[in-house]
Amino acid sequence: MSIYLDYNASAPIDSRVLEVMVDVYQNHFGNADSRTHDFGEKTRSITEKARGQVASLIGIRNDEVVFTSGATESNNLAILGLRHYGELSKRKHIITSSIEHKAVLEAVDYLSQNGFEVEYVDPDVSGRIDSQQIVSMLRPDTLLVSIMHVNNETGIIQPVKEIGEFLKSSETLFHIDATQSCGKLIEEIRELSYDLMSVSAHKMHGPQGVGALIMRRKRYKLPPVSPIMFGGGQEHGVRPGTLPVALIAGFGKACDLAKMEADENNAKCQKTKEMLLCMLSNSGVNYEINGDQNYCVSNTLNVSFVGVSSEALMLATKQYCGVSNGSACTSKNYSHSHVLSAMHLSDERIESAIRISWGADMNRSLVKEAFIHMVDSVKQLYN
Ligand code: PMP
Repeated sequence: MSIYLDYNASAPIDSRVLEVMVDVYQNHFGNADSRTHDFGEKTRSITEKARGQVASLIGIRNDEVVFTSGATESNNLAILGLRHYGELSKRKHIITSSIEHKAVLEAVDYLSQNGFEVEYVDPDVSGRIDSQQIVSMLRPDTLLVSIMHVNNETGIIQPVKEIGEFLKSSETLFHIDATQSCGKLIEEIRELSYDLMSVSAHKMHGPQGVGALIMRRKRYKLPPVSPIMFGGGQEHGVRPGTLPVALIAGFGKACDLAKMEADENNAKCQKTKEMLLCMLSNSGVNYEINGDQNYCVSNTLNVSFVGVSSEALMLATKQYCGVSNGSACTSKNYSHSHVLSAMHLSDERIESAIRISWGADMNRSLVKEAFIHMVDSVKQLYN
């Protein structure tokens, strides 16, 4: 049996979330924007309940939640949606990091081809970027700083709290891609200061295909994001389209569960990590951990078995476990991880890096068994 160790790509849906969704699919089929009958009113009340659950997890007002199809769309909307405002206000300078998800990097690249200037900060070998470097790059025409909370490949937590504190009183907008931290770093997210934040349900045991762009009000006004799609006035007119009620209800339930269970889940994930680190140090194989573990989330380990190609190792262990060597969005064609490259790791270390990510729901003895097979495969591949 192969066990799934790629939760950062997508976490399995919680059965309690699925139950809520099945009920909506079976019994509540109205359009949440229909005003003329009770069916629409019922689905509207379902979406508003879920909006409250998302808002309550994140610690914001209900009307600051804009439902989207996931974090790719949220990132695109946050960045491309500011184009119009940037052009009008003549603020066309953007700062981001070289380790962002492609949904940020490709969106800012598009703006850079259309008259905007984009500057990138690199992390150091720890996998963290330096908040002071960002502060030193700010200019009067800086429109946006976009930095992720937790990196999807290394699990390293970025200094978004410090950046947010600095930008709090500035005109520069701050966007955080919190896809990998939402539902995990609950208290931390509640304390952040930001204008825009992207989240996704399927990284926190909710359904794939739904997420949100959080738009914080400043002096009662929403951030100046223009829609990037047209065709309806839903979601403050920022994100038109019929709301996918069952997906949204599932997202809300996943937020509710995360709020109640995150501490316990984090503790369980940390135990799994400690077990893996202990097994590694007793394994006798050559390995390097990528990213400073003092700043790493509890469910992710990026490790290089130096001298063993990650592609060969994944093939050799496929029957025991599913891991990855980069983000799922870029793993169709293998190319060097842009995250590990930005950390200036050696080519050999990058080529041998694998990402293992797990959840609290996993049976630790099965993880242990799979990892023993992995270490055996590493030893065989050395020979
Ligand atoms: N940002 C980060 C940091 C991610 O890890 C992902 C998913 N790999 C995304 C954005 C895109 O999220 P979604 O799958 O919801 O489009």
